[in-house]
Amino acid sequence: TKKEEEEAIRRSQALENDEIETLRKVSRQEYLKKREQKKLEELRDDIEDEQYLFDGVKLTEAEYRDLRYKKEIYELVKKRTQDADDVNEYRMPEAYDQEGGVNQEKRFSVALQRYRDPNAAEKMNPFAEQEAWEEHQIGKATLKFGSKNRKQKSDEYQFVFEDQIEFIKDTIMDGENVDQESSIEELNKSIAKSAFDKLQDDRKTLPVYPYRDELLQAINDHQVLVIVGETGSGKTTQIPQYLHEAGYTKRGKIGCTQPRRVAAMSVAARVSQEMGVKLGHEVGYSIRFEDCTSETTVLKYMTDGMLLREFLGEPDLASYSVVMVDEAHERTLSTDILFGLVKDIARFRPDLKLLISSATLDAEKFSDYFDSAPIFKIPGRRFPVEIHYTKAPEADYLDAAIVTALQIHVTQPPGDGDILVFLTGQEEIETAEEILKQRTRGLGTKIAELIICPIYANLPTELQAKIFEPTPEGARKVVLATNIAETSLTIDGIKYVIDPGFCKMKSYNPRTGMESLLVTPVSKASANQRAGRSGRTGPGKCFRLYTAHNYQHDLEDNTVPEIQRTNLANVVLTLKSLGIHDLLNFDFMDPPPAEALLKALELLYALGALNKLGELTKVGRRMAEFPLDPMLSKMIVASDKYKCSDEIISIAAMLSIGNSIFYRPKDKQVHADNARLNFHMGNVGDHIALLKVYSSWKETNFSTQWCYENYIQVRSMKRARDIRDQLEGLLERVEIEVTSNVNDLETIKKAITSGFFPHSARLQKNGSYRTVKHPQTVHIHPSSGLAQVLPRWVVYHELVLTTKEYMRQATELKPEWLVEIAPHYYQLKD
Ligand code: ADP
Ligand code: MG
Repeated sequence: TKKEEEEAIRRSQALENDEIETLRKVSRQEYLKKREQKKLEELRDDIEDEQYLFDGVKLTEAEYRDLRYKKEIYELVKKRTQDADDVNEYRMPEAYDQEGGVNQEKRFSVALQRYRDPNAAEKMNPFAEQEAWEEHQIGKATLKFGSKNRKQKSDEYQFVFEDQIEFIKDTIMDGENVDQESSIEELNKSIAKSAFDKLQDDRKTLPVYPYRDELLQAINDHQVLVIVGETGSGKTTQIPQYLHEAGYTKRGKIGCTQPRRVAAMSVAARVSQEMGVKLGHEVGYSIRFEDCTSETTVLKYMTDGMLLREFLGEPDLASYSVVMVDEAHERTLSTDILFGLVKDIARFRPDLKLLISSATLDAEKFSDYFDSAPIFKIPGRRFPVEIHYTKAPEADYLDAAIVTALQIHVTQPPGDGDILVFLTGQEEIETAEEILKQRTRGLGTKIAELIICPIYANLPTELQAKIFEPTPEGARKVVLATNIAETSLTIDGIKYVIDPGFCKMKSYNPRTGMESLLVTPVSKASANQRAGRSGRTGPGKCFRLYTAHNYQHDLEDNTVPEIQRTNLANVVLTLKSLGIHDLLNFDFMDPPPAEALLKALELLYALGALNKLGELTKVGRRMAEFPLDPMLSKMIVASDKYKCSDEIISIAAMLSIGNSIFYRPKDKQVHADNARLNFHMGNVGDHIALLKVYSSWKETNFSTQWCYENYIQVRSMKRARDIRDQLEGLLERVEIEVTSNVNDLETIKKAITSGFFPHSARLQKNGSYRTVKHPQTVHIHPSSGLAQVLPRWVVYHELVLTTKEYMRQATELKPEWLVEIAPHYYQLKD
């Protein structure tokens, strides 16, 4: 309207020129410095707290206790959110920032090529987040923030809110079944009631509610039902409750699987609120390394991977009356395998109800797979969404996303709707958060308050809740989310979606056995799901930071199911231990490439988990007990023979937490690197160094101060301790004694080699390495303690592809071990 327009103009004019200048000049360097400081302060807080001090103030005992208590609760909550299920993401702090300008077009073409042809990887140089970090480490590059291009761009920066980024309005996605009046009426009714009553009223406003009885009838009439509904219609939170109310939990639990840990935790928390019970009692969740359920739990939310593991203990899922495979459209590896398993048990358990629920995609396919199971459609309530594309590809999508968000914020009246930005991961989100804060700081009341809410897998729970809090009047919320907000979580009140068009995706090359996480263009289906998030509460707008041409020609129609682009060794081991032998004829919805299956069988045979006939061996049975990758499990099982299980589970735990152990503040890099070198003394290799870190920490009685002094992240260490405790429990289960052999590093290295012998490499004349089994050129990662040493033979934990193919976590090995440990795999050449 005219009034709104005037308001917008007034606002932009209110920005004084010099303020605009400051906005522009906020450099990344400054931002980085701030962030380092913040992290240091956090660490310091930890320590001061231990000394009965807080912020330098001495506390009374009561105050201290109170603080301590709060902190414990905080730690507890935090612990819960620690990543366990995700692939070990390779992460270095500030990775994104140092990367500098990224050419989006190159990104598109490189990522796409790699996505379509994993074998092409070697020929290409896919941009990588830690590219610059590595270069710095190798000493090839001077540290600069941002490329020339980028600088130029920011010099030209005009912080004008109009036409900062030009968009072209394109299509409009039609709304469906919009019945605004009634929902608003219902919402109004729910104002001014007790929180619990209000929750109950809210439940009734969800699109699924009018279909409650019809749905229950359909579930009653059919054993398998495919349920399809727009994201946010209430499938995940409501359907299990309806079933509970209808008495299904009298016969057994209701299990509801989620592909993501955060979603499992978050919906369980929500449902426990709605039911007025404590989380972990009637409503609970289960994710890897963390079980928040009890005897009384009847509604159990869990990751799909956890339900898969439950089959090991309970092959017919006897304790369940209903299994709901939720978010089926995500087609994660575990979900795909679950399909085959639940379809099978449904045949001999007629009392088991099976629900397959998904967002509005692929429903027919699910129905076909489940022997023409009926499809129950929950009519959506989506308003039309305007799609806008950029005129030209954006050079830096993060920057473009931030600018677009600010553009919207400043030109649109507050209260008219929140913004949702899709980014690819934690680093990127943190960067965006800081930049947004910097650019809005100092504007005071000249612009409306902008509440920044990040959401990603590792975010502490109490911060996760923030995204669901209603936006205060006069303010606007901007949610910076990973793919998790695409369909797994619904945030109310979003009117604007900003979609750079990327996500992180796993890719696997069956030839080399290499698996890595790559930033990849989303599919058209994903892009449309994202756009749809803006039309839930009113007409929405979606800003795509790519061109209409990109959308039409560069994006795949659908995301390739994970089963077709991942390492299958783990799944094959699980299936084998479930007694499923004929994998080639397993009822896959979309079968994995035969090559990948064979590769997995070959690896499991080499590890001794399978015999020549493909049957599970005793070693394999023990390995399957560990929720880890087969090579790690084998390393643990082999430690029995070498009498060093105590050390090996510490190493396994440390390897499991990935790349977030050492901390490297910008102004103390030398100190940090020296502290780190201490653990590498004697060129023991990275595995032993990790062991040393863990045992030194243990010797100090798990001291925070010690971590601080050694530039080690205490949070990661606590998580390692947690995982280690659980591994110790599992050792007992497979009847392996905890024995220590700390003085004989060679046997420890042999145990490691027993699991990782397929990952061995030999030094070449030029300083690179050649992998032994499937020869390819690789390099020791610059962060490795052996990067300067270059032993003739190494065994490595994993390969990461960034600027080059790097071996991460390497240890020296004697070639004769290979023949001793894996004679069937390696033979001596005469
Ligand atoms: P679906 O599974 O169909 O996508 P959900 O059952 O997840 O829908 O969501 C239904 C409603 O519950 C949404 O409006 C959403 O905003 C709300 N909701 C879900 N989880 C939470 C939570 N953790 N906190 C607050 N609201 C939530
Ligand atoms: Mg859901």
